[in-house]
Amino acid sequence: MASRALDIIDPRPRFTQADADALNARFAGTDTATMLAQLFAEGALGRVAVVSSFGTESAVLLHLVAAADRSVPVIFVDTLKMFPETLDYRETLLARLGFTDCSVVQPDPEVLRAKDETGLRWSWDPDGCCEIRKVEPLKRAKQGLDAWISGRKAFQSSTRQNLPRFEIEDGRLKVNPLGDWTKDDLEAYFARHDLPRHPLEAKGYLSVGCGPCTSPVAPGEDPRAGRWRGWDKVECGIHSRGNPAAPGAAQGGAGELPPGYEPAF
Ligand code: SF4
Repeated sequence: MASRALDIIDPRPRFTQADADALNARFAGTDTATMLAQLFAEGALGRVAVVSSFGTESAVLLHLVAAADRSVPVIFVDTLKMFPETLDYRETLLARLGFTDCSVVQPDPEVLRAKDETGLRWSWDPDGCCEIRKVEPLKRAKQGLDAWISGRKAFQSSTRQNLPRFEIEDGRLKVNPLGDWTKDDLEAYFARHDLPRHPLEAKGYLSVGCGPCTSPVAPGEDPRAGRWRGWDKVECGIHSRGNPAAPGAAQGGAGELPPGYEPAF
């Protein structure tokens, strides 16, 4: 009797911390473009995608990835609270760079109905709002990926210091190709490749997120100071190891505003 082939499902994560350490050592001192070209040519990242917010600095990472391999999937998390300018900028950049696999992931309508029926959750529970509009959709988009590429840089804020190029997050390899780039490096790259700028940058928005939670920054201010201004919040949660449930989400997530509540801004 012919032997039957067995389907074996290996539940182990494809990448471990030892793999991330080895990649950091291997590419220490290698320029970003060369590193990406080698990684893609070797298929070393497995099933990989680049996640972009199409913010003020996103064009650099996207240009680098496109130059190495235009077939790398590009994922955009549309929170349904984006500036129209960001949606237009996404179209402009994708057309210019020629990516062949572009997708948009949005919040689950059922979850929005249950937890943010008014659409104002951002104004009284930004952590909970980010959880349902950014963290959960991105988590869904990353299912099936072995690795993802992020545009974070160490200089962006004190919470992003000592950013390695390769790290493990939720059992997945996370690649930060621009981790050690400076603002001057980015500006030089924009100029060298004549990349289009986000339309809101000229109006003082140096870091662009969702419309309700982004404001222009004054000269000399931290570029991310305009994000969640007035709140003790500096990250949306998609870069937190393990993505613990946000405080607001843990409260049960009722969609109604608290009694007597008036939106503050
Ligand atoms: S940035 Fe603001 S609007 Fe966007 S998901 Fe977070 S809290 Fe909600």
